[in-house]
Amino acid sequence: MRNKKGIKFYLVLYLAKMSRIALKIVGRDATYFPGKLAVTLCPDFLGRIEKPKTIIGVTGTNGKTTVCNMIEDTLRENGYDFIDNHLGSNINSGLASTLIEGANLKGKQKKELAVFEIDERSAVKVYPYITPTYLVCTNLFRDSLRRNAHTEFISQMLNDYIPKQTKLILNGDDLIVSNLAKENARVYFGIDKLPTDTDKCENIVCDMVSCPVCGGKLAYDFVRYNHIGRAHCTKCDFCSPKIDYEVNHIDLENMKMQLRNGESYDLINNNIINIYNMLATIAVLKEMGLSQEKINQSLRKQKIVDTRFSKEKVGNIEVITHLSKGMNPIACSRVFDYVRKEKGNKAVFILLDDLHDAAHSSENIAWQYDTDYEFLNDESIKQILIAGARYLDGIVRLQMAGIPKEKIVAKREELSLVESLQLEGIEKVFILHDLYAISLKNKIKQQVVEKIKGEEAK
Ligand SMILES: [Zn+2]
Repeated sequence: MRNKKGIKFYLVLYLAKMSRIALKIVGRDATYFPGKLAVTLCPDFLGRIEKPKTIIGVTGTNGKTTVCNMIEDTLRENGYDFIDNHLGSNINSGLASTLIEGANLKGKQKKELAVFEIDERSAVKVYPYITPTYLVCTNLFRDSLRRNAHTEFISQMLNDYIPKQTKLILNGDDLIVSNLAKENARVYFGIDKLPTDTDKCENIVCDMVSCPVCGGKLAYDFVRYNHIGRAHCTKCDFCSPKIDYEVNHIDLENMKMQLRNGESYDLINNNIINIYNMLATIAVLKEMGLSQEKINQSLRKQKIVDTRFSKEKVGNIEVITHLSKGMNPIACSRVFDYVRKEKGNKAVFILLDDLHDAAHSSENIAWQYDTDYEFLNDESIKQILIAGARYLDGIVRLQMAGIPKEKIVAKREELSLVESLQLEGIEKVFILHDLYAISLKNKIKQQVVEKIKGEEAK
């Protein structure tokens, strides 16, 4: 809003820049403090500092980081020079840190392009000062109750604060997202009906059941998961939007997807979540004028970063690690669904936030009852190993999902789980872990790998 810089602004900019240099000299992380300092001393700092000419923003409940990584890798490979908050936080202070780093001492930005991951909850502190040229919204779901409450709370906040000049790149298969900021220019991405789609929602949670125009009951033409799918109102003419970037064929055998406009792209991962992430990336880069050829050539070389997904064949068994954000019922449900649909007999480790982390455990475990643990009650899943501070809650939830007691191993100590792992007849071992359990995941993975090697050597 305010563009006037003033003495205070320059003073804060110098201080923040100096703090950055000082932190770097002593070998400390300088991605957080300078921005935090700037917005504390000068609350409208984001409004005063110059911004790059073009800003790509990425927001939504799930997939922000993956989409930003894909956009950044593709742009970098195609010779674009830009700033991003890749290493810092995705709230106002993180964006301030990135802009401070990108600016010279006169407050002028050295680069003309920025890619910003923007926390949806921070809309109120970001959009009054930053107007993204393009804003991608991946999806809006329930997230941690403590942070995000409900989709209506978040979508209302985005409606109130998204700048009118911003062009929106929206998930057209998400009726909450596709109805955001109705006056803004927009394009939609989406995936046409798939053989795996259903008529009714299989999940515990569906947050879009009535028409946002007249309140009538929505009829789903197909459901993919939760409220993702296409629907129309049974009382008025409200319906899912016409999709601009629409996938009309997915060939998992050859790992390709075809768009209705004739373009074909190589898939880098077979999980529907990551196909949406790719599609969001493609849509924004096409809007920026990149060709199918350039986008596909870069995307096909990329992979989902190891901290989020990894797959390793050890003897005859595949060991797969998969990020599964605790307190985020939809993200966990997607992963559980993915696991049950993978071929072969499986053993599954569950190391979710609230389960593994006593120090930061939340009082509220309602999210576990919004999560589809029922998906783990599958013939192909032979053993479920769960541990951590809330392992007793874990047992209750798994048994409520109908999972037989004899399939469940539950312990307080995570690292004692592996001794109970039964490998006979198992083709895949999944380690599902929270963002904050990376080192724990690595330790368990190492133990699993050693156990497999040990048993195969017998
Ligand atoms: Zn209606």
